[in-house]
Formats: sequence, C-alpha cells, structure tokens
Amino acid sequence: NAIALEGVVKEYLSHGEVVQAVKGITLDIAEGEFFSLLGPSGCGKTTTMRMIAGFEEPSKGVVRLHGQDVTNVPPNKRDVNMVFQSYALFPHMSVWDNVAFGLKQRKTPQAEIKQRVGEMLEIVDLAGREKRRPREMSGGQQQRVALARALVNRPRALLLDEPLGALDLKLRQAMQIELKRIQREVGITFVYVTHDQSEALTMSDRIAVMNDGLVEQLAGPREIYERPATAFVAGFIGTSNLLAGTASGGTLELGGGKVLVPDRDGPVTVTVRPEKITISTDKPGGDVSAVPGTVAEVVYLGTYNSYAVSLADGAEVTVFQQNAHDSTTTAERGDSVWLSWQARHSYA
Ligand code: ADP
Ligand code: MG
Repeated sequence: NAIALEGVVKEYLSHGEVVQAVKGITLDIAEGEFFSLLGPSGCGKTTTMRMIAGFEEPSKGVVRLHGQDVTNVPPNKRDVNMVFQSYALFPHMSVWDNVAFGLKQRKTPQAEIKQRVGEMLEIVDLAGREKRRPREMSGGQQQRVALARALVNRPRALLLDEPLGALDLKLRQAMQIELKRIQREVGITFVYVTHDQSEALTMSDRIAVMNDGLVEQLAGPREIYERPATAFVAGFIGTSNLLAGTASGGTLELGGGKVLVPDRDGPVTVTVRPEKITISTDKPGGDVSAVPGTVAEVVYLGTYNSYAVSLADGAEVTVFQQNAHDSTTTAERGDSVWLSWQARHSYA
C-alpha cells in the first residue's frame, strides 16, 4: 500500500495541558486510491495530513510510505506533496514559472522542464495561460496552478487539505469533477481532506470519517451512506433518523409499533435513512419495522416530498417519498399514518 498509519497519536501542549489532536489512528491507503479524511472542524484532519507529509512528528505510532517507516523522515525527503487551501503561489511569477519552480531548483535539464510543465498545464487545462500571473486568474484557475505545481514533481502521493474551501459552490462542484479526472489521468494516490460530506461522497474511493481525533468508520461512499457504523456517522452524513429506546429480544417497542433490531438487547439507537421509509394509512403486515405517527409537515421538493412525522414519544422522523411513480402517497398534515421499513435498512 501507499500510506499506512499505525496507532498514530498527536499530542500538543496547550496552556500547560496536554491536548490530543489525534487519539490513535490506524489505516491503510492503497496505491492510486482517492482517499478522503472527512469530519467536522477540529477533529484532527489537518494534523493527520501534516504527519503524513512530515510537518509534524507523531507523539506515538508509525507512519509508512510505500512500506518504509518515515516517522522521523523530514518532509523534503518524503515522496509526497501537499496542496493547501491558500494555494501559496508566488504572486510575482507567471503560471509557467510557478509550475516550473521546483524542477528548476532541482536543476532539471531545460528540455525536460519544458516538456513536463507543458504536459502538466495541459492536464490541468491551463495550456495557453502560461504567461498569466496568479492575480489575473480566477480562484479555480489558481487552484489548478497549485495542483500542477505539486504534480509536476511526480510525487507518489498528493495530499490535499480542503483545497476547494475558498471557492464558491458552483466552481467547487466543477473543480470536484476536474480533480477526480486529473487524479485518474495521473494515476497517483490522492489523500483529500474535507469537512463537506457531499464532496467526499462524490470523489472518494474510500472515506475515513473522523470525529474527535479518531476514525469512526472507514469504508466506500456507498457503505458509509447506507450503513453508517455509528450514530455520529449517521448524523454527519446525509439526513438520518435516530430512534432511541430499549430493545428486548430483537425488538424495540415504540409508541404502539415495533422496530426490528436483530440480535439486540438493551439500550439502542436505531438509524434509518428518510428515503428507506414508506408511509401508509394502514398498519403494514409482514416482517417489517412499523411505527405509528402523525404527519406534522409536508414539504414539496420537486422530485420528492419531505414529510415530518411525529411519533408518540415526541421524536420526529423525516421521510422522503418520490413523486414520480408514487401517486398513492397523499398523506397530509394532521393525518395518522404508519411508517415502515425493512429491517435491513436500519442499523442499531
Ligand atoms: P481539523 O483539520 O480537522 O479542523 P486540526 O487537525 O487542525 O483539525 O486540529 C485538531 C485539534 O488539535 C484542534 O482541537 C486544534 O485546536 C488542535 N491543534 C491543532 N494544532 C495545534 C497546535 N499546534 N497546538 C495546539 N493545539 C493544536
Ligand atoms: Mg484543517
């Protein structure tokens, strides 16, 4: 594999107190993978990246790059490059000189510089803009210059710390597609930091969802969305309903209904996605989870409706129902309804 963290911990001394920014992370990143670290601000993403890059030394644990222990190797001796949110371009230099800078410093022959910089500007779609200065370019273009500058050194892995954070939504979405294309084209490992769940879900092969210095779940986007491993992941990714109670013998009794929680006993929190729930007037039969409630709100959202349904215990459940082929759903505010879903669509 390309990158491995083994029991990595980072402690800082802050006002005489030890703060654990990273509390023990173990993970493997495969060669050529688009891997994301996703989590809220302050959960330790940047600290983790800085340890991979070598700007920080772990307090405990081992960092490996391509199998080699690099825990105490300085950044310039590691075969990785980092791109920051701030781009950090040289403002007085042209695009070409910005990208060529690292190669010139390493006394790369002129002909090779020309070939590699030209090729890289082609890949990031900036051919023809060689003479521009950073300030004459849009945010998205500057970001692509920063990317070209990092990639031209042909690192085996590229670390990107919230690289699109300074861009507005539309440009950010365009750049997400662009970045993914570039990664596919150059074929190197990308480690991508973001607090934006939709960004991580669209771009990544795998995602490590972080919370409070730890990885809560490491899986592909689909798995993380469909099978959140913890209540934190369920709450952080997409919209999810959380139903809490005490299970006995694989069933959680809830306001006259039941939630199936196979093999569970004792206190549980069940998560279920809004689009997995069916609304019906009659109590559904069969082996499904089914709870009664009252429609508190209906919001028309174009291709689907969003329902807020209050349960007897006061909990509110969000339900999304497609409009296209679902002409039977006509629940209105104040209606008594049943919510049901297959056991495999909820997680306890
Ligand atoms: P993220 O990138 O996920 O927002 P960071 O890795 O930047 O999180 O920070 C994680 C935690 O470590 C935060 O609580 C932050 O305040 C703390 N931290 C980061 N760097 C330092 C430092 N140099 N000294 C003290 N505390 C730090
Ligand atoms: Mg950060």
